[in-house]
Amino acid sequence: MYVNILLTIGFAATSPTPAPATPDCACATARVDNGWCAACKVGYVAGFRIPSHALFEALDAHGHDINPASIKCESCKKALETDGFCEKCRMGFLRGKAYVSRLNYHLAHGKIRSRADIKCSACKANAAKYGWCDVCKVGMVGHVALADKRHYEPAAREAEILVRAIALAEKCELCAAAMVLDGKCPRCKIEYKDGKAAAKKSP
Ligand SMILES: [Zn+2]
Ligand SMILES: [Zn+2]
Ligand SMILES: [Zn+2]
Ligand SMILES: [Zn+2]
Repeated sequence: MYVNILLTIGFAATSPTPAPATPDCACATARVDNGWCAACKVGYVAGFRIPSHALFEALDAHGHDINPASIKCESCKKALETDGFCEKCRMGFLRGKAYVSRLNYHLAHGKIRSRADIKCSACKANAAKYGWCDVCKVGMVGHVALADKRHYEPAAREAEILVRAIALAEKCELCAAAMVLDGKCPRCKIEYKDGKAAAKKSP
């Protein structure tokens, strides 16, 4: 539209080339903020590269501000007070924020470390996926460092499911989303539990 106006009033010859329609690459910040880069069509959670918007959305890698009065579930109320996790609602709480996945609840307890800052080679290797380093007494899940095994171990389990879901997204993005949510793919009608396809039930 802008270009057309320029053409009609005769500025076309001297006007700079119009900005490309595609947005600029935001991967550098997206990697740190668990964000989405619209230019590359790729999202990031804990540094894991997620080339599926449906899967990225399903991961919901952010804490949510909550109104404590709106919480009806007793176990959630307790979890909110104790920075715990409600197994029934699959929702965790930390410092008054709600995390709607086990992965993000546990990751929220850690600290982001950039690859350049990691001196230990074992930790650096762990950061490529996940792993515990006995020398440093710290676990890495992607680029998130977790010093407490009570948070590292469940986060690593969830990261393994995430790695599988990323691979699955090539076949069906909705299956990948269902896998991380313990849900059902509306297209393939496959149910997932703990990162695995559940045995098909007869109708
Ligand atoms: Zn990008
Ligand atoms: Zn609950
Ligand atoms: Zn180490
Ligand atoms: Zn599917």
